[in-house]
Amino acid sequence: MRQIAIYGKGGIGKSTTTQNVAAALADAGAKLMIVGCDPKADSTRLILGRLADRTVLDALRERDEDELELEDFLFEGFGGIRAVESGGPEPGVGCAGRGIVTAINLLEEKGAYSGELDYVLYDVLGDVVCGGFAMPIREGKAEEIYIVCSGEMMSLYAANNICKGIRRYATAGKTKLGGLICNSRLVDRERELVEEFAAALGSRLLYFVPRDNVVQRAENRRKTVLEYAPDSPQAGEYRALARAIAENRLFCVPTPVDNQALEDLLLRYSEETD
Ligand code: ADP
Ligand code: MG
Repeated sequence: MRQIAIYGKGGIGKSTTTQNVAAALADAGAKLMIVGCDPKADSTRLILGRLADRTVLDALRERDEDELELEDFLFEGFGGIRAVESGGPEPGVGCAGRGIVTAINLLEEKGAYSGELDYVLYDVLGDVVCGGFAMPIREGKAEEIYIVCSGEMMSLYAANNICKGIRRYATAGKTKLGGLICNSRLVDRERELVEEFAAALGSRLLYFVPRDNVVQRAENRRKTVLEYAPDSPQAGEYRALARAIAENRLFCVPTPVDNQALEDLLLRYSEETD
């Protein structure tokens, strides 16, 4: 079983990318579970065709832990993919990372990791790398990390911060960065920019996902592109990304860059195209 954490700035495309990759892997015969680690609790909507009926934290608010069964917070969707949302506290109350810790512990207790699982994908908000959000990568729970980013400054800034978090926790466990996934925002020379940034981190650009409005058309129907338009070029892109992840053998402990170096890099790329 490979446990993979997908990190990245909010809104960058983590959930879309994770679910499309999961659907592609399931199509190819793999057994998967997605664990949504974002208080937004929309990491599994395209796989389930609806928002999850209940998050782990919701379930715990309704009933005692020992009365709960897996089916109360684990649902099955497209391709037999198991879907769980950790959930979050009421807005403005408590620590958003706590739900993740609680969810993973409960999943373990209730046996969600048993049986034939080839992949567990954790879809984790990466704007804050507090202890709770780092949970999937602590103690080697998820041994592989991919960061979704684009060529936009804030997403690279978040990616760099996530690398600082990986450095901090990777020493304790076996967790390593498997590469960056660029989810295009049509920035000038975006592929080269992200390639250079990845190299500065000691990592690499694993895959470049083009921007395509079929993603929205599928999303509006609560579907992955794989399900909605399996023959589209974009579905082919997600299949290729899924293959790149399945076949990846290159992992590293990243070396974050300092903010000045990151800004210089961005400036250089924007100057060269002015
Ligand atoms: P996150 O999980 O990182 O917060 P989402 O996966 O919810 O981000 O994506 C944010 C928005 O971007 C969604 O509306 C989604 O449809 C859109 N999106 C993501 N990837 C692409 C893409 N490759 N092309 C077009 N739209 C995309
Ligand atoms: Mg999301």
